[in-house]
Amino acid sequence: MSETNSTDGYRKVHEEPHKKVIRNPYGPNPGDYLSNVTSFQIIESTLREGEQFANAFFTLEKKIEIAKALDDFGADYIELTSPLASEQSRKDCEAICKLGLKAKILTHIRCKMEDAKIAVETGVDGVDVVIGTSKYLRQYSHGKDMSYIAKAAIEVIEFIKSKGIEIRFSSEDSFRSDIVDLLNIYKTVDKIGVTRVGIADTVGCANPRQVFELVKTLKSVVSCDIECHFHNDTGCAIANSYTALEAGARLVDTSVLGIGERNGITPLGGLMARMIAADRDYVLSKYKLHKLRDLENLVAEAVQVNIPFNNPITGFCAFTHKAGIHAKAILANPSTYEILNPADFGLSRYIHFASRLTGWNAIKSRVEQLNLDLTDDQIKEVTRKIKELGDVRPLNIDDVDSIIKDFHADIHTPLVKASDGPSVDSKDDIMLDNVKRPKLN
Ligand SMILES: [Zn+2]
Repeated sequence: MSETNSTDGYRKVHEEPHKKVIRNPYGPNPGDYLSNVTSFQIIESTLREGEQFANAFFTLEKKIEIAKALDDFGADYIELTSPLASEQSRKDCEAICKLGLKAKILTHIRCKMEDAKIAVETGVDGVDVVIGTSKYLRQYSHGKDMSYIAKAAIEVIEFIKSKGIEIRFSSEDSFRSDIVDLLNIYKTVDKIGVTRVGIADTVGCANPRQVFELVKTLKSVVSCDIECHFHNDTGCAIANSYTALEAGARLVDTSVLGIGERNGITPLGGLMARMIAADRDYVLSKYKLHKLRDLENLVAEAVQVNIPFNNPITGFCAFTHKAGIHAKAILANPSTYEILNPADFGLSRYIHFASRLTGWNAIKSRVEQLNLDLTDDQIKEVTRKIKELGDVRPLNIDDVDSIIKDFHADIHTPLVKASDGPSVDSKDDIMLDNVKRPKLN
């Protein structure tokens, strides 16, 4: 048995040929033989689901800017608001179809012939059709029974197919629909030849085990691809998306920052974080991750929100390490406390050293950055002084630098005036490479 270090920081263990090769423990489970964790696709719905976010109002210019950015990022599909929503929505849809993007353009409609006829005229590459199947929607929304739904679905699907474009059929509120009804309608539309079927957790009620069971069952009755749409009301959207892929779904609906109805759906960035931990090579080969921060900033600005502090990848402290014991290990080997490599996203990691939780390794790193000469014992002593002050009040970078410089000056003569010292950026943390940290919003 031998070991090699891979670039992603995982230890790869190679055993004799007849034995199993141990792979990334965060990757697909070999028992999930239908898993698409290493072959998933993104249906990016910032310009459809995202337009349903409370703050969203996208002009055509902004839609084009976002569509181009999503395309550049590598989104497989871009889903647009129904052309039936408004006259401008129809014009926007046509304009985006004419951009000639690499991503396939979809629009999203009700399961009605009047919708389908307008949708296919916009120039889209495919149409996503949705109809409510839960008892709530059947009773309080459209008021139709399952036989009506099946009849309407067949008519709409055959019409769209006749136009030679992709067609997805999805139930709405799938997890509160009758399982027998669901499987029957999916079997029917699969036989007619839809490109894919969709399940939608419209109210965000599903948990990962329920998702696994439903997708696995659905996979056993249809031959087409399965798409998933998860709302985040109970915080499970990313976990549910990943689990759906494990169970055999292939496509996940996302939006930038997760914007959508209520508190939204699976966020693109968060899903990328989950997926790169599972299969770094696949994710890096398909998606330009270093464009994620700009993409999020573009959308955040357009809908007037801040990037949340705890956002995966781009939250301002996503790669900031504070506790002394963490800092020591991070300085020795970042993989000790990081599952994601900030460099994959064009970002940097930081050691936050201006607090009473700091340790002498972090201070040593700062001393080196300040170009000062102290022995390890001296650094341990100055660290004690920093911690003493940190017990009394919050510290900032200037406090720590002043303590270090005063300490250094006491030891070395002649005294070095602060203005004569090396020029140091006024940052709160040690930046471990030259890339700027994410901007605080
Ligand atoms: Zn939705």
